Amino acid sequence: MNSSKHKSALKVNEGIEQPPNINPWLRQTKKTREKHSADDYVKEIVQGNRTMLSQAITLVESTLPEHQRLSRSIVEQCLPYSGNSIRIGITGVPGVGKSTFIEIFGTLAISKGNKLAVLAIDPSSERSKGSILGDKTRMETLSTLPDAFIRPSPTGCNLGGVARSTRESIILCEAAGFNVILVETVGVGQSETVVNSMVDAFLLLMLAGAGDELQGIKRGIMEMADIIAITKADGINQRKCEMAAQELRNALQYMPPSESQWKPRVLLCSAISGLGMNDIWDTVQHYFSFIKQNNYFLQQRHYQAKYWMYETITEMLKENFYSRQDIKKKLTQLEKQVIEHKISSIAAAEQIINQYLKK
Ligand code: GDP
Repeated sequence: MNSSKHKSALKVNEGIEQPPNINPWLRQTKKTREKHSADDYVKEIVQGNRTMLSQAITLVESTLPEHQRLSRSIVEQCLPYSGNSIRIGITGVPGVGKSTFIEIFGTLAISKGNKLAVLAIDPSSERSKGSILGDKTRMETLSTLPDAFIRPSPTGCNLGGVARSTRESIILCEAAGFNVILVETVGVGQSETVVNSMVDAFLLLMLAGAGDELQGIKRGIMEMADIIAITKADGINQRKCEMAAQELRNALQYMPPSESQWKPRVLLCSAISGLGMNDIWDTVQHYFSFIKQNNYFLQQRHYQAKYWMYETITEMLKENFYSRQDIKKKLTQLEKQVIEHKISSIAAAEQIINQYLKK
């Protein structure tokens, strides 16, 4: 018995000692990945290849110069295929029910024949440990649908970096045929303003509290909202939600009209009972036909394209400025002089900018 066991064990070992089945495959994959040109990416993306789309987004998020060069070229070539979508920002405090909402709302959008991409902006991911869309248990059903593409927030970047890569990811997703783009963000900080610079519609999710409906959400964010949905309108909570919605409608009456001339709507919804989901979808459609008719849609997109050009100019100039060795050196000297009151801050800035411009 023992000896036969040994024999079989030896046989198994012989088998294990033949790794070629594994290694060449790994090497090959790596090689193929490295080999892709911008043209390859674009060709595959416009055909709806999700793996290539994901890889291109990873390049967009990368800070390596060679990745940046490649991703710029991909984005550039995808641009003519993009734009044909509705872009919706979704925000709300943590726990309001964003991911549950997106799961149901997204499934509804897909059932109506759309292709849905969900992106996220979470500049606080250091703090929240990337909880936004990062938890694999979220959006379980949606993530299995072939017409859904879910991408968590890029991490390790500042808000500007995250925003730029999300905007470029939108372009790539659209080129891949996704025509409903949801950009999720946590409704507590500046990120909403940034999201607003890349979406056409802003959907704010709010909880009904005991008279504290307006808390937790900054006023500016409410002013941005085109649609406000009070979440968790089910069970004993429903009545409270109805009251909260009424209060909000009253409060909104006193807000100045938005640039789009659209009057924000307040709706109720429940991801559990499904209440309000169709209403919200219909209101979104209504909103889009309204802003397309009065040309706000195009105006806004033009404004956003210009905004991103200026943002990029600022970003590139800054990067170039601070990465120059002579500037780094001079800055160290100037810092010292400024602290010692030998030179004013403004004079120091002027001096270094002159030095920068001379070369
Ligand atoms: P997020 O942090 O905004 O993404 O919120 P989640 O989607 O993770 O939801 C937070 C909690 O609220 C979870 O425990 C959900 O089960 C619960 N929740 C979400 N939507 C509803 C709803 O419509 N009704 C009820 N009763 N609970 C909900």
